[in-house]
Amino acid sequence: MAVSEPGPATTASPGDALVVLEHVNKWFGELHVLQDIDLSIKQGEVVVVIGPSGSGKSTLCRAINRLETIDNGTITLDGKKLPEEGKELANLRAEVGMVFQSFNLFAHKTILENVTLGPIKVRKQPKEQAEKRANELLERVGVGHQAAKYPAQLSGGQQQRVAIARALAMDPKVMLFDEPTSALDPEMIKEVLDVMVDLARGGMTMVVVTHEMGFARTAADRVLFMADGAIVEENTPEEFFENPRTERAQDFLSKIL
Ligand code: ADP
Ligand code: MG
Repeated sequence: MAVSEPGPATTASPGDALVVLEHVNKWFGELHVLQDIDLSIKQGEVVVVIGPSGSGKSTLCRAINRLETIDNGTITLDGKKLPEEGKELANLRAEVGMVFQSFNLFAHKTILENVTLGPIKVRKQPKEQAEKRANELLERVGVGHQAAKYPAQLSGGQQQRVAIARALAMDPKVMLFDEPTSALDPEMIKEVLDVMVDLARGGMTMVVVTHEMGFARTAADRVLFMADGAIVEENTPEEFFENPRTERAQDFLSKIL
């Protein structure tokens, strides 16, 4: 299952900052859900975000592709500030691939249509071109034989791999994964993680919210530990798992490991 791509669709070179958050704050009413987040993600970097439920991990991901607005601070993607709204926002958002816990495939469209919809509608690709690419991507994530089926006819692991192929079909500059394996039966987790590891090795810039420590150790360049809306610790996976510095992280790891 080689997912390695010719290279992400960006002008940035490896090592350049691709996603930059500066002083990002967000409140839900009284709740300060993102507290002065500063984060710079380099081209080709794989960042794993872990932390207790409710710490703001999903909100952080959603802010990066503007599914959530932020109250202040700036987020830039490949040097461009994320606009508030309009066509420009739609264009920039198309450059951020997102894979959710619930696969969010269109139930009444075939697997192939799920993958070609964005490229045809948003990228204005001719249907044949979009289908050719979709078939290649489905092949790469190991569901090439399922193209004519509907989502409900696939296992959860297969659906999630289709969701990854669908995101990749837009040639995103960065891929965000929000607990992509949390809703899967245990025997299907590996097949999804394998695709993600391959993507990481192929140079894709990735932000992955997950508690899959095996994935973090294998693929992450950096682990961020979030608690109460803040990044309280960041380190290499080796250092983070062996020597968590903060009590919060030690406490969290003692519960999940
Ligand atoms: P995590 O993904 O780390 O579990 P979330 O980012 O989903 O955390 O949520 C962080 C906090 O913000 C939680 O307390 C959650 O209840 C709250 N929250 C999330 N979305 C909303 C919303 N749309 N309105 C109000 N509160 C929200
Ligand atoms: Mg979440």
